[in-house]
Amino acid sequence: MSVSDQLDRPLRDLRISVTDRCNFRCPYCMPAAIFGERYQFLPKPQLLTFEEISRLTRIIVRLGAVKIRLTGGEPLLRQDIEDLVAMLSALDGVEDLAMTTNAYLLPQKLEALKAAGLKRLTISLDTLDDDIFRAMNGGRSGVDKVLEGIAAAEAAGYTPLKINAVVQRGLNDHTLVDLARFFKERGHILRFIEYMDVGNKNGWKMDEVVPSAEIVERIHSAMPLEPAAGNYFGEVARRYRYADGEGEIGLISSVTQPFCGSCTRMRLSPEGEIFTCLFATEGVSLRDPMRAGASDAELEAIIRGNWGARIDRYSEIRSSLTDEVRDRRKKVEMYHIGG
Ligand code: SAM
Ligand code: SF4
Ligand code: SF4
Repeated sequence: MSVSDQLDRPLRDLRISVTDRCNFRCPYCMPAAIFGERYQFLPKPQLLTFEEISRLTRIIVRLGAVKIRLTGGEPLLRQDIEDLVAMLSALDGVEDLAMTTNAYLLPQKLEALKAAGLKRLTISLDTLDDDIFRAMNGGRSGVDKVLEGIAAAEAAGYTPLKINAVVQRGLNDHTLVDLARFFKERGHILRFIEYMDVGNKNGWKMDEVVPSAEIVERIHSAMPLEPAAGNYFGEVARRYRYADGEGEIGLISSVTQPFCGSCTRMRLSPEGEIFTCLFATEGVSLRDPMRAGASDAELEAIIRGNWGARIDRYSEIRSSLTDEVRDRRKKVEMYHIGG
């Protein structure tokens, strides 16, 4: 029943963006100047219901996806998200059920998420410097709120956590060693993400990207590192262990060391479109046929056809595109299909 694409990549992961809304305004994702008071987010009737998400997930799992991640926007803003977690964790064939969150609302949600069967958590935190962090989330949160979320996750047994940090030159790159030391001491896995040109709204420039090799160099000179073997096919982060045996970090180097060759991820948007690449220009709606009465077999055929035709490898061709061609390409936004 499984399906592979034109480059022989199986479908293994599904990322579900449950909302296009967020309580932060990280300039690299949802710049406040664009996503202001008047910005029109998707109206509720356009969003997939939990029953619809669950039905589509069941079909996509039959086609080979074993790892599910809930993301957004900010997934904790979706009302009663724990009910969706419970529905997905009850599906046969789901081996892993995780969530990526900015953690602002985590303390009040954690108990319900855990009871519903959420297996793993990734929390985003770009720096421990409060002023810089505020600049990197549009002034919506101090570091303390995220640390409270992390403490709650630790207390609930979600250890080790994965911590995502986007690195932007001139903004937080001088604070990375402090961040690494902090999470090394707490036994969590910090993953540095190269700033990416997702969407068309963040004004991405190549010279704001700090290459992973440079990040490794900086951490290594303070706390020696050695390369670690990958865990599984399709793992996006390159891993490094601390030479003292205490912990590891990951590098997600979409820009300087693309990993399209092993990319096994499908993305489902809040309004029910599937995307086969983070840099896709368009998706395929499953909501419309589903609401028009399509059977499971018909929906499966659409998904199979979509993945089967997949040739995406944007990050591998990015460097061959001129700035002009890249900027003209209309891409889906990160907050819309999730990281
Ligand atoms: N709101 C949640 C959060 O921030 O964790 C989940 C959604 S967010 C889009 C998922 C991940 O994408 C976050 O770790 C975020 O830092 C990362 N991200 C967003 N925009 C990015 C960009 N332009 N380049 C690299 N990573 C980005
Ligand atoms: Fe919101 Fe996450 Fe995007 Fe920041 S990265 S604006 S927290 S969706
Ligand atoms: Fe996958 Fe597209 Fe990213 Fe390549 S650019 S790794 S195909 S999401």
